Amino acid sequence: MIPISKPDINEEEINAVTKVLRTGIIAQGKVVEKFENRFSNFVGVNHSIAVSSGTTALHLAILAAEIGKGDEVITTPFSFIASSNAILYTGATPVFVDIETNGFNINSKQIESKLTKKTKAILIVHLFGHPCDMDSILPIVKKHRLILIEDCCQAHGAIYRNNMVGSFGIGCFSFYATKNMTTGEGGMITTNNPEISEKVRLLRSHGSKIQYLSEILGYNFRMTEFQAAIGIEQLNKLPGYNAKRINNAHYFNEHLSKLEGITTPEEDSDFVKSVFHQYTIKIGKKFASSRELLQTELEMAGISSKIFYPIPIHLQPIYQKYNKTSLPITEKIVNEVLSIPIHPRLSNKDLAYIVSNIKRIAYSR
Ligand SMILES: *Cc1c(COP(=O)(O)O)cnc(C)c1O
Repeated sequence: MIPISKPDINEEEINAVTKVLRTGIIAQGKVVEKFENRFSNFVGVNHSIAVSSGTTALHLAILAAEIGKGDEVITTPFSFIASSNAILYTGATPVFVDIETNGFNINSKQIESKLTKKTKAILIVHLFGHPCDMDSILPIVKKHRLILIEDCCQAHGAIYRNNMVGSFGIGCFSFYATKNMTTGEGGMITTNNPEISEKVRLLRSHGSKIQYLSEILGYNFRMTEFQAAIGIEQLNKLPGYNAKRINNAHYFNEHLSKLEGITTPEEDSDFVKSVFHQYTIKIGKKFASSRELLQTELEMAGISSKIFYPIPIHLQPIYQKYNKTSLPITEKIVNEVLSIPIHPRLSNKDLAYIVSNIKRIAYSR
């Protein structure tokens, strides 16, 4: 079976973990600090704070920005549910804006129409590794003095006009097992704002700077030393992983874009560089089979594929209260999307096998 994702854990990670375990210091310490510094250098920010997951990164980012009850946060309905759940954790209200017609990210042209006096922040998601339309979003953030939170959980290393995602606002990363780089579970917050950094550090560990003196209500969202040890090795490998993902995407675009009824993802431009966390195609009415049948056929050929995401966030049971208007593009796209394996461990043979199977089905009618 060709899986949809496959973490790449080798001798480097195993040795790094063993070395940490032998020191006997396993909870947050110097290795976490080293990982944070490396991550700051990579993203091009002044501060990185390691946490226990992408979800806790988002949660603390919103709390640190002092957003809560009575505040509204503009966000996208087409994402993994954690990006919106983090808003609910703080008591704030998510306000959903539909996605673009030709991509998968928030439609920046519809943001301003959803602003109210209560709007405090925009939480964007660089979905599937593709950066959002920052040329349009940054001026809105500036003009209305909003806070920008970037969900970069699928976009480690993605670039927009020479800047890495996570450097425009408060960046939130995940190192879950399926992401572009992993620590098993883990997360990171990136910022250039020293106050946000300070606040996140307090919130991460029970509000304490000095041990056993709690200044504010905090949590235990810390990362362990052995996770950070894996993270340092994975960060070294990330540029290679991303290069492989991009190559795989070019290969698929070349071989799939002309097939009747299939829409392949946008090609990168001079200034937008996706890191293809997912390679997501749209299966239209003109395709030879239904999306579900294509999925079954691929499964039978030993190729796993997945629907990211089958239910938009605003239509989830727990979001009924916040579901104010219909969001037609999102509601349509969830019936069309299909993600096929793109991860760096695919061989050339795997890539050719995936293409030949999709072609076989495409020409079956
Ligand atoms: C994975 C993911 C998260 C949550 O990260 P965890 O580490 O699993 O908590 C949040 N947002 C998006 C878009 C994700 O893909």
